[in-house]
Amino acid sequence: MKRLFIYILLLVMPAGVWAQDAAVKKIMEMAREDNRVMQHLDILCNRIGGRPAGSDACTNAEQWAAHTFKEWGLDVTLEKAGELGVGFNRGGWWGRMTGDESMILHFATPSYSSGTKGSQKGHVVIEPRTQEEFNRMKGVLRGAWVLVNGKSGGWGISHSKQATEARHKIIEANAEAAKYNREHAGEDGERKRIDDTTPALFHDEMIEAGVLGFIQAAEVPIQALYDRDVVRNNEASFDNLPAVPNILLNAEQYDRIKTLAQQRRNIELEFDIRNYFKMGPVTYNNVVAKIEGKKYPNEYVVVGAHIDAFDTGTGGVDCGSGVSAVMEAARMIMASGAKPDRTIIFVLFAAEEFGLLGSQAWAKAHEDIMPKISNVFNRDGGPLPYTSFNVPQSLLKEYEKIVKPIQELYPDYDFKLTAINPFKKPTRLGGNDSTTFSVAGVPAVQMADWADPKGYNFSYNEIWHTERDTFNKSIAEYQEQAAASLAIMVLGTANASKQWPRNEVFLAE
Ligand SMILES: [Zn+2]
Repeated sequence: MKRLFIYILLLVMPAGVWAQDAAVKKIMEMAREDNRVMQHLDILCNRIGGRPAGSDACTNAEQWAAHTFKEWGLDVTLEKAGELGVGFNRGGWWGRMTGDESMILHFATPSYSSGTKGSQKGHVVIEPRTQEEFNRMKGVLRGAWVLVNGKSGGWGISHSKQATEARHKIIEANAEAAKYNREHAGEDGERKRIDDTTPALFHDEMIEAGVLGFIQAAEVPIQALYDRDVVRNNEASFDNLPAVPNILLNAEQYDRIKTLAQQRRNIELEFDIRNYFKMGPVTYNNVVAKIEGKKYPNEYVVVGAHIDAFDTGTGGVDCGSGVSAVMEAARMIMASGAKPDRTIIFVLFAAEEFGLLGSQAWAKAHEDIMPKISNVFNRDGGPLPYTSFNVPQSLLKEYEKIVKPIQELYPDYDFKLTAINPFKKPTRLGGNDSTTFSVAGVPAVQMADWADPKGYNFSYNEIWHTERDTFNKSIAEYQEQAAASLAIMVLGTANASKQWPRNEVFLAE
């Protein structure tokens, strides 16, 4: 009876469909028994580490990913996406306060910012706001750590010419305000405000006077980004690098140290920060891995995540949770023996954190295939599972079949499918690589990844470009669901009866 049933099924089903079903079955089996998403993440974060574009670790990650895709049988190329004038490698960092009070200091420094010259100990000064203040303290700047104003947004202090000019304007305004206030001392009426929020007004002058570095308050968990003047300057080289560290210090510690400094207490700070530069130019590459389509090799599904990550953490979530899921989806599809109708292109984009540089370069280099992409799946929203998806109305029925295995594998997540309500094509780039495509009119509709159905209390803000973005912030069972769901959805999209119709995604202009 059973054999007869299969025999009839074989007669009525085209062989291709039969093979695809077998591939999905294989993916489901791997999802249950051999899901390796966390292994990829472990290597990426804990063997390779934090990997800003231009770092040796980023190059190591590119090479490892390319090698791994190749081992699984994909067709791999490293495509140059751009280059940086200098590179950057981070070593360790520590600091402490000694004297009347002591504590271990909790801080970070942006990528592409200077380290110390060994372990450097010095007294503390609060930055001068006016020329008079500067003159009164210029003798004690040498060898001092300077507390500067304002709260850090992760960038550190600009050392560009424009920033220096802007600061000099504020110094002039502060001088005028101070003069006015002096002349009107003892009178009623308003006083003029002296800017005390712009950090390091006498930036260049203090460096010239021999300060050890600048310390700014930062909220915990500490966000640390990168030195924009180095990264965005095409002429950046060993000759024009920042000279002293930009320390982003736990705001509570900052406040305590400032109070002690105001009381002229006997304290010293000691920092050892191992930030190193690398001679450029340093190339950063998109890692591109393909499975060629059998029926429509010139139609595509793109699956992406970004390989670069900040390095005070190890990019365990941003974007390790994306890279590891995309890689595992690729492995599962290959190992399933699937022969997709359309070509599937997996891309690990370079230099996303420096302004979507890798995806921009990729879109430009592959302009010809942009109109032939069904959808761009980009995972860059954290380690949460996929819980819904919107698809073109005319493909809804087909996708109901495509998502069945996801619903069967993960009944707890209650995966939902609805039709896209066509929307206006965005006109501006947003916060991740998918917008590179949607701005260009290529569908980049993402599966929803913001629910936390098992209640892990995940917080994106906790990890977002902070010291906490590490391997153990990714959530294994969610990552496994995401990798397998991605594999099934991507394969389904590659095998759909037609390419996604643009007019069912975007409103006519
Ligand atoms: Zn990201």
